Amino acid sequence: MKNIEIAKIFERIADALEIKGENKFKIIAYRNAAKALSDLTEDISEIYEKGKLLEIPGIGEGIAKKIEEYLKTGRMKKYEEAVSGIPEGLFELLNIPNLGPKTIKLAYESLKVENLQQLLEVINNGSLEKLPMMGKKKVENIKEGIKEYLEKKGEKRRFPIGVVEKVVEYFVSELKNNKFVENIEVAGSYRRHCETVGDIDILVVGKEGGKIIEHFTSLPNVSKVLSKGDTKGSIIDNELNIQIDLRVVDEKSFGSALQYFTGSKAHNIKLRGIAKDLGYKLSEYGIFKEEEYICGRDEIEVYEKLGLVFIPPELREDRGEIELALKGKIPSLVQLKDIKGDLHIHSNYSDGFDDIETIASYGISLGYEYIGIADHSMSVKYAGGLEEERILKQIEEIENLNKKLKNIKILKGSEVDILKDGSLDFKDEILKKLDFVIAAIHQGFKKNVTERMIDAMDNPYVKIIAHPTGRLLSGREGYDVNIEKVMEKASEKNIFLEINSYYDRLDLNEINAKMAKEMGIKLIINTDAHNIKMMNDIKYGVYIARRAWLNKDDIVNTRNLKDFINLLKNG
Ligand SMILES: [Zn+2]
Ligand SMILES: [Zn+2]
Repeated sequence: MKNIEIAKIFERIADALEIKGENKFKIIAYRNAAKALSDLTEDISEIYEKGKLLEIPGIGEGIAKKIEEYLKTGRMKKYEEAVSGIPEGLFELLNIPNLGPKTIKLAYESLKVENLQQLLEVINNGSLEKLPMMGKKKVENIKEGIKEYLEKKGEKRRFPIGVVEKVVEYFVSELKNNKFVENIEVAGSYRRHCETVGDIDILVVGKEGGKIIEHFTSLPNVSKVLSKGDTKGSIIDNELNIQIDLRVVDEKSFGSALQYFTGSKAHNIKLRGIAKDLGYKLSEYGIFKEEEYICGRDEIEVYEKLGLVFIPPELREDRGEIELALKGKIPSLVQLKDIKGDLHIHSNYSDGFDDIETIASYGISLGYEYIGIADHSMSVKYAGGLEEERILKQIEEIENLNKKLKNIKILKGSEVDILKDGSLDFKDEILKKLDFVIAAIHQGFKKNVTERMIDAMDNPYVKIIAHPTGRLLSGREGYDVNIEKVMEKASEKNIFLEINSYYDRLDLNEINAKMAKEMGIKLIINTDAHNIKMMNDIKYGVYIARRAWLNKDDIVNTRNLKDFINLLKNG
C-alpha cells in the first residue's frame, strides 16, 4: 500500500509551504489529505483504479490529481517544487515546541541555519537573539522547546566534535577552578578526536572527591543529575542534553584510567590480551602482577610496560596500530602547528563575513605564511557568487594588499562551481589569472557527479577538489559519487583532495582520507571559513588527518610558501 508513503509526501509539502510562508489554506489542505490517507484502510491504488479518489473525505480535485500523478509516475512535481531549496535539516526543526515556521525561515535566511546543530549554535552565540522580532525571552522559549523535543525524542544522539567542544570547555574550566582538583583530562571518543561524540568522560585527580562531585553536579549548566557519589557523578548538560561522567581517580591510577576510558573498546581488548600474555593484569586501576601494583600513574608508562611505544589517542581503533607499536613503529602524525596556510576562505565578496585584509591579519595571528581567498563563482547566486567583473576587482585588491602586507602572502583563488553539464563556472581566461582553483559541486548532487568531477580535473587550472563527497554530519547524505574513481583521476592528475575542516562536513572523512593517501594522493586541510573565527576549525581537519594516519608530508599546506607555490605550479 502506498497510503502512508503518499501521506508523508503531503505532510512534507505542507511543511515546506509553511517554511516558505505560503497560503494557510493550501497548507491545511495538504495536512488534511495526509490525515485522510493515513486513516484509510483500503489501498489507495485500488481506490484510484475504481475512479473513486474524490469520494475520500478530505481529497479534492487538486490533491486527487497529485495522487494520480504519483501512482502513475512515481513522482510528484508539486513535491519536488515545494521542497526544492529547503535544506533537509529544516524540516526537523518544525517538530520543536515554541519554534514556528516563521522563525525557522528567518533563522535560515538571515543566519543560514540549516539544522538543529546550527540553530543551537546561533542561540549560544547570541546572534538569533539579535534578529528583528526575536529578543531574549523568545530565544529562551525556543531553548526550552529544544530541550523538550530532545527529551521526547529520547534517542541517544551523537554530536559533531566541534559542537561538543564548547560543552567540554565549560565543564573543564569550571572544574579547574575547584581548589581540590589537581589534574584533569577528558577521555573517551572526544580524546580520540572522533568526528562525533555521544557522551563525555572526564577524569580528575584530587582530594575530597565528594566535594568535587558535588561542585560538578550543581553547576548551572547541569539540567539533570543522574547519580553522584564520592568518586563518580553523572549529569545531563542543558545545552546538548549530552551525558557527562566525572570520575575522581587515585593519582596512582590516573594514567591507566585515562588509557582505559579513552578506549576504543577494541583497542583495549587487544591491549588486555597482551598484558595477560605477559603475566599482568591491566585495568583502569593500573597494571598488576598478582595483587602487586606495577604501574598506572602515567599513560606512557602503561604502554611501555606492555612493550609498546605510546600510541596517540586518534589511532586507538585496533586498525593495526598495536602491531606497529609493538615494533616501535608508530607513524608520526601531522600536527596543528605544521599547518602553514588555509586555502579555502570566503570573504565578504561572496557569502563570507570579513574583508580580505581582516582575514589576512587573522591568518598572521594563526602563524600562517599564506592564505587563499576562494569565494564562490557566478552561478552560486544564493551565496553571492562573484561575477567576472567582481573577481577581477578582487584580484586587483589582493595584489595591492600583497604589496602592503609583509608577514603573509594572500593567494588569489576561487571555489569554482562544477556546473550541471560538467563545465566550470568561469572561463579559462579568468582561471589563469588565479594562483589556484578549487573546483566544487554545489548543484546537481545526484547528477553524474563522478563524471563531472573527473571532467573538472581535466581543466589545467584546477588544483583542488573541495569537500569531495558533499556529506554533512547533521544529516545530508552527500553526492552520488564514486569516490574511488575520483581518486584515481586525482592521483593521475596530481590534484589535491580537500579535508574540509568545518565540523559538520569533515569531508573527506578519515576512511576516505586514508584511502587517498594509500593511492598516493596529496591532501590539503582547509577550513571553508566564512568568518575569521571559523579559521580555527582547521584543528578538526587535522584531527581527521591524524585519524587517517596522515603525516606532515601527506598534507600540502604544511609546506612553506615557496615550496607550496612550487607544488601548485608543478605538482
Ligand atoms: Zn563549497
Ligand atoms: Zn566554500
